[in-house]
Amino acid sequence: MINVEEIFAKNVFTIGKMKDYLPGEVFRDVKKVIDQGGELTIAEADIVAKAMKDWAMENGATHYTHWFQPLTGITAEKHDSFITHPDAEGFMIMDFSGRELIKGEPDASSFPSGGLRATFEARGYTAWDITSPAFLKETAAGVFLCIPTAFCAYTGEALDKKTPLLRSMEAINIQALRIIRLFGDDKSKKVTPMVGPEQEYFLVDAQKYLKRRDLIFAGRTLFGAPAPKGHEMDDHYFGDIRERIGAFMKDLNEELWKMGVTAKTQHNETAPAQHELAPIYETANIAVDHNQIVMETMKRVAVRHDLRCLLHEKPFAGVNGSGKHNNWSLNTDTGTNLLDPGETPNENIQFLLIIACIMKAVDTHADLLRQSASDVGNDHRLGAFEAPPAIISIFLGEQLEDVVRQLVETGSAGSLKESGKLMTGVSTLPDLIKDATDRNRTSPFAFTGNKFEFRMTGSSDSVASPNTTLNAIVAEAFCEAADILENAEDFDLAVHDLIKKYMFNHQRIIFNGNSYSEEWVTEAEKRGLPNITTMVEAVETLTTDKAVALYEKFQIFTRAELTATKEILYDTYSKTLNIEAKTMIDMASKQIIPAVMRYTGELAYTVNQLNAAGIKATVQTELLKEITDHLIIMQSYLNRLKEYENIAFTIPDNRARAFYYKDKVKEAMELLRVSADRLEMMVDITYWPIPTYGDLMFEV
Ligand code: ADP
Ligand code: MG
Repeated sequence: MINVEEIFAKNVFTIGKMKDYLPGEVFRDVKKVIDQGGELTIAEADIVAKAMKDWAMENGATHYTHWFQPLTGITAEKHDSFITHPDAEGFMIMDFSGRELIKGEPDASSFPSGGLRATFEARGYTAWDITSPAFLKETAAGVFLCIPTAFCAYTGEALDKKTPLLRSMEAINIQALRIIRLFGDDKSKKVTPMVGPEQEYFLVDAQKYLKRRDLIFAGRTLFGAPAPKGHEMDDHYFGDIRERIGAFMKDLNEELWKMGVTAKTQHNETAPAQHELAPIYETANIAVDHNQIVMETMKRVAVRHDLRCLLHEKPFAGVNGSGKHNNWSLNTDTGTNLLDPGETPNENIQFLLIIACIMKAVDTHADLLRQSASDVGNDHRLGAFEAPPAIISIFLGEQLEDVVRQLVETGSAGSLKESGKLMTGVSTLPDLIKDATDRNRTSPFAFTGNKFEFRMTGSSDSVASPNTTLNAIVAEAFCEAADILENAEDFDLAVHDLIKKYMFNHQRIIFNGNSYSEEWVTEAEKRGLPNITTMVEAVETLTTDKAVALYEKFQIFTRAELTATKEILYDTYSKTLNIEAKTMIDMASKQIIPAVMRYTGELAYTVNQLNAAGIKATVQTELLKEITDHLIIMQSYLNRLKEYENIAFTIPDNRARAFYYKDKVKEAMELLRVSADRLEMMVDITYWPIPTYGDLMFEV
């Protein structure tokens, strides 16, 4: 029996625990820094560190680690035990100082820096993010105290995902406060972006996984003919959860709850062996940290159940891949959600201004938003009729769209469409069901009642970038609106004009139709909306003048950091494809071709035997010929891939190399795959050297 109330946040150094473990004065200061920013003194940090250590050790911890998110997109940790030295009598003294809590010094040269650091310039620092609570991780390595930290270079440039996110949260806080002050809110002290990321994943049997080198090295299958059944019957989505998967989910929830992650919803997803977990939304940076914990824990718990968790965006060709819906809203510390339309959104001027600003932000920076959701795996999903296209548009729902239309056409929105229930704001159940209509599910950026749902993000990616981008672009729009309105002589008139102007100028970004359709691609092109189909093309958006101006104005990224990010992304792309190509070459040469040769050997033997016995081997001969022909084709594609792969390797320029991988190597990989998959359909299954799609997806 799990007692959730008892175990929830058991492994988190929560505000409540800080209150218990810290002297009142220190606690008040810590709370103040969490809520309002600022710094603790070294003496205070010492006290907090000691309290953390005492609490951690009482719960079995032996080590601590600064837990950070380098630009690899995953997390990093280096464990240090609390031991210092034995005292005169030989008893070990355990210690953890304020300095160790606040600042760490991992070697920065082993993490991607995109040229910000040369290898010999190794210094990098991790800095305690006091706003995200410390927690204990329980693993086979024991229990250790994780301190969420930001990671930056000796020269101060961010080398991680958290620092820009925190900077963007500060930017949007300042600008959103300006907006609500205009409407008379002088009580709220802080506006915080709130995020709820829904995580999709696949589970496969560990023994079968271990027989697939592509899953081991690339996290996705690089070969595999379709199973006789896919998800055409729609019988997996929301289906009954199998016992083995149920046991995994139960364990996963327990682990997550202990670490303070509000695991809330679980269900089977569309594809066979695909599932989803959604937490309850929370402050953006904590949500980002928690999503990393969710991904790590999924992998760890899967191992315990002799399963493996696949977080790749496209583990299997031909069935839906995995994404991560990023739900985003803005909350004041006084408890108002700025995206709540209220009963009559057409009269809610503050809400309309905010929507107008978001329209402007998303339209102006559609390219950046698109980029923020790109990673190597996501290239397989976006625009492939299973996830939103690579074109950014906003879905507002019928009622709001009608309000926008009235405002654009007549300057005022006198009426409210009856389907208004969608907009009552409070997330009652009927509203949520309404949000989940098919039409709406195809939109990359959908208004769902009192939040926007950004549906492009990939399942394995950190949600730091999408949220950093969203905060930044909306902060910019708020800033511009506030600049105008704060100086307006007649506020009512000015705000009215501004809403109309923004909505008029940016109405092209609204699209309520089916975003998966071919017509939308054509229509979007007519509207001049960018359609950036691949990750490497999206990278370029990071250093346009527009992007640099935005990010530098709000001090979220420097130009140097943006350039570095670009270099890292190109490099990541090339490296990932390089690994995939090498894995394919390896599997084709050492597993698939030898297996086909063994089978053709048997066929040839049978043909000879039958002929010797005076019996016509028509079927065997035909099959032998057909397979041999296909094998020749496969071998030629294998050679081509090897050739391209060798060339790719020698291209010195980061960008050029990435494009070569995208344009040449990727195509050669696809051809090799198709030829191998064809052979799979012909060869005796007992000869096939790797578990099939059917084995992997249906026999979990
Ligand atoms: P939907 O059916 O629209 O996807 P759900 O209630 O299932 O909505 O929520 C999906 C995710 O959105 C959950 O993680 C949830 O906590 C989060 N969410 C709900 N309301 C908000 C909000 N105001 N801001 C940010 N995220 C939210
Ligand atoms: Mg959703």
